[in-house]
Amino acid sequence: MTTLKFHNTKTRKREVFTPIDPQNVRMYVCGPTVYDRAHLGNARPVIVFDTVARLLRHVYGDDHVTYVRNFTDVEDKINARAAESGRAIADLTEETIGWFLEDMAAVGAEEPDHMPRATAYIGEMVAMIEDLIAKGHAYAAEGHVLFAVDSYRDYGKLSGRTVDDMIAGARVEVAPFKRNPMDFVLWKPSDAQTPGWDSPWGRGRPGWHIECSAMADALLGREFDIHGGGNDLMFPHHENEIAQSVCAHPGHGFANVWMHNEMLQVEGRKMSKSLGNFFTVRDLLEKGVPGEVIRFVMLSTHYRKPMDWTEAKAREAERTLRKWYAVAVSADAGAPDDLLLGLLGDDLNTPGAIAHLHKLAGAGEAASLRAGLKLMGLMGDLMPEWAAQEAFDLTDYEAFLSDARVTAMESKDFAEVDRIKAMLTQAGVEVRMSRNGVALSAGPGFDADRLDPL
Ligand SMILES: [Zn+2]
Repeated sequence: MTTLKFHNTKTRKREVFTPIDPQNVRMYVCGPTVYDRAHLGNARPVIVFDTVARLLRHVYGDDHVTYVRNFTDVEDKINARAAESGRAIADLTEETIGWFLEDMAAVGAEEPDHMPRATAYIGEMVAMIEDLIAKGHAYAAEGHVLFAVDSYRDYGKLSGRTVDDMIAGARVEVAPFKRNPMDFVLWKPSDAQTPGWDSPWGRGRPGWHIECSAMADALLGREFDIHGGGNDLMFPHHENEIAQSVCAHPGHGFANVWMHNEMLQVEGRKMSKSLGNFFTVRDLLEKGVPGEVIRFVMLSTHYRKPMDWTEAKAREAERTLRKWYAVAVSADAGAPDDLLLGLLGDDLNTPGAIAHLHKLAGAGEAASLRAGLKLMGLMGDLMPEWAAQEAFDLTDYEAFLSDARVTAMESKDFAEVDRIKAMLTQAGVEVRMSRNGVALSAGPGFDADRLDPL
């Protein structure tokens, strides 16, 4: 069996992965708060942990992995968006969930085994909060219930912060009823316009952190193997999940391994609406960037390194995938080779795995290449089409352009050459001209029909 090693945020070490129960390897990943289209940064954890899930399924067997990713469908951002757009909250969240699944399927992400919605687990959340109060870790005040961070000695251990650091660094909401400024909300009161559920503390709604603790417990149990998410969630969200779950279930450690992916940038800058470089996955797909290309670019950077999305990388990724598809298309389904598994098993070394696939493609190892593409979720629906385009014979067009060039050299009139070149480029053909001649190849967006006028 392939040995897997993952970097564990909790211990700050790369550790050999030993599942609690190899018959049921369990992973929880924090999912989206559903009020808008997923931006490109949201796709990174989805693609990273989809690749982890694929690897786990390969190693432990399809039926021996339980992957849970939630939908946060009760949260103040959702309420605000619904209020400003005049829409019913349920319509907004339902539509956003549909969009999310569609966009993530386009980037090759398989649906997790469970996709719980927070609103379906309110009873479990209330029970967990009652339990935390009974155990002295939480207190009710003015319709709120707060977690008392002073009651949990290890608070801050995951992110390596002390409570004093946190108070100094965080924008903490100061409320007169808080015992410690870092105490966080488990439950809060709802007014008539806000979604709410009856509870021992009056009509209200859960805080964000308790949602994940309750859903993970309901679907994976007191202790499970991997908890994943972006490293922007490490503090306070994951810190708070740990505090809640460990204090509610003393003697159980919640997640054994914590995996965090780094953030995404665009052309070297933080993606933000104010910089004008903010876009959604759907924007890219509609611009004609295939999901396979988005996934390839994401996986070409290690998940623990900041990832920079650039248009140049997307073009290069498409060129590579087209070549690989042409090699792999007619191969029989095989098993991924040990080298590839070793790389992926080494803390998900996807850039190393991609370099290895380059070697396989270069050596014409079609079956291994195909198996590797499949394991990494890179064998998209475009394979037959792109492979056919790669095989498209451009020799006549090469000769045509070459002749025109010879004529132009004599007449010094390059208008005809420029015209042909422009048409080829528009059809997605890459044109390389050198002293030795003309070379054409199908490139990103190649469309043979657009060659007809030539
Ligand atoms: Zn969470």
